[in-house]
Amino acid sequence: MNDFIVGIDLGTTNSELAVTEDGIVRVVPIHGNPIMPSCVGIDAQGNLLVGQAAKNQLIAAPESTVVSIKRKMGEDTRVRFGEREFSPEEISSFILRELKNEGERVLGRPIHKAVVTVPAFFNERQRKATQMAGELAGLEVVRILNEPTAAALAYDAGNRDHETILVYDLGGGTFDVSVVTVESGIVEVRASHGDTHLGGDDFDQLLVDHAVAAFQRQNGRELKPDLRTLRRLRVAMEQAKRRLSDEPYVHVREEYLDGENHLDIEILRTDYEAMILPLLEKTLTCLHQALTDAKLAPKDIGRVMLVGGATRTPLVHQLLRQKLEIEPRFEINPDLIVAMGASVQGAALSGEKRHSILVDITPHSYSTVALATDEGGYEFLRCHPIISRNTPLPSSKAEMFFTTLDNQTEVKVAAYQGESENPDDNVLLGDFLVTGLRRVPSGNVVIIHFDLDLNGLLKITATEKATGLAKTVTLDTRGARTLDLEKAKQNIAQLVGMDDAIEGSSDGGLDETKERQEQLTAAKNLRKRAEALLQKGINPEDAEELRALLHATAEAIGRHDDLTELNNKLSDLVFYLED
Ligand code: AMP
Repeated sequence: MNDFIVGIDLGTTNSELAVTEDGIVRVVPIHGNPIMPSCVGIDAQGNLLVGQAAKNQLIAAPESTVVSIKRKMGEDTRVRFGEREFSPEEISSFILRELKNEGERVLGRPIHKAVVTVPAFFNERQRKATQMAGELAGLEVVRILNEPTAAALAYDAGNRDHETILVYDLGGGTFDVSVVTVESGIVEVRASHGDTHLGGDDFDQLLVDHAVAAFQRQNGRELKPDLRTLRRLRVAMEQAKRRLSDEPYVHVREEYLDGENHLDIEILRTDYEAMILPLLEKTLTCLHQALTDAKLAPKDIGRVMLVGGATRTPLVHQLLRQKLEIEPRFEINPDLIVAMGASVQGAALSGEKRHSILVDITPHSYSTVALATDEGGYEFLRCHPIISRNTPLPSSKAEMFFTTLDNQTEVKVAAYQGESENPDDNVLLGDFLVTGLRRVPSGNVVIIHFDLDLNGLLKITATEKATGLAKTVTLDTRGARTLDLEKAKQNIAQLVGMDDAIEGSSDGGLDETKERQEQLTAAKNLRKRAEALLQKGINPEDAEELRALLHATAEAIGRHDDLTELNNKLSDLVFYLED
């Protein structure tokens, strides 16, 4: 039987799940809606909320609700969430798990494998983080697919002409532009460019800043920037922004925004457009770069496909029309097209016969550093590209390097991502030492081989030519950013339930003893009761003691420590307070 592989668009603002079977693409409704907000929360009882339910409590409980986690993927950071802290991978895994569980319920069959999309401009770390989130959710991510490529695949599912398409993808948090050719079922990405920190969320922020300034003018006092007020303002401004796509002005009134004073403003679309123009101009610079890389001019573009919710902004259409002299089109719903394309690729990978062939590229160059000498005879480190940007994937390339010292037995191999000759301007992906080289005069040849796979993940091999001595590293980036998978599973287990977490373990489950599971179950129940007490209101000293214990148990669970003593303490305090 063929594998069943779904397509998932793990978006900054929203996420979607689609399946393609027998050539038919279907978006799977999640909680009855094709679009699920990429929002995660914990309710007052300590239950995990994902999607619309979490979004609903965004204003009321901002400290227990997380949005736009995609912007933090690949960063070495923890997000405070209720009483606990999670990595971006863990938070994203809650979103993926919800899509998986709901998808299984709707489709009536298990989902084990997925193609998950990422912005073309996501770097190595961000891609790895996405794969990790999948694993934590109990999903094998069989392919990480670039979002614009997915969009082109969805388009190709219904059209087979020869055409050069420009995919302009402006979502909540990221921007990508790609030049793609579609010919007889071959979808070939020619060039890609983008910005992983540019999207509709930034437009919201500009409107929030505008509203904060207006509030100050109107009321003669500063707006206290507490999380609750800012979230409320953000939600109001996001709605205002959407309305400005259809109306020439909007009136926003937020009663008692700071508890005492109102916000009452009118925003003209023209003023809003002036605010966002510099950001949209940045997208046009990327577009120009992608066209240049593809060695094409605007006149060569046959069709402009708009992807991502923020492309509903009329100024986007206007600027593209001016720049390319083509009317941009929403061929397929811009919110769903990426998930649909991912599912087309999923079907192809699972062996469905009629499918498109995909030729994807890398939007970044990958280089290693080597000593170079300038005109004055000074030596300096320079990036030496091994795989250049816009090279079709997978790519496997090698270059020769030479030792510079006599009897040099070690070389340090480093990999960088980026376009500059100066290593400081690029992203260091990682480095490693090759030891045990022959003791010979300088000039010993070391071959450095870069393998970039279809997911955009890099493997490096350094080989001493004369002996064949080799060292291979699949890059886990520097900064010790290697998420401890077992720890992460422990951390999320408390929220999704131990059974789910064990099931989510692709390597056959956590190595948990029965006793440990009992400890975890007891801790979970006690924590729920403690949180209910805090919610109900207890005296500040008791609350502080209870919070300290909750924090200590959370840490102990994360560290995999024995919980007996902490459970006893928590139990004593909870019983005492419940009395
Ligand atoms: P995506 O990441 O593709 O789901 O896009 C979400 C972004 O699109 C968010 O910033 C939304 O606020 C924005 N968006 C959705 N609908 C509209 C609209 N009608 N006008 C402007 N922006 C929108």
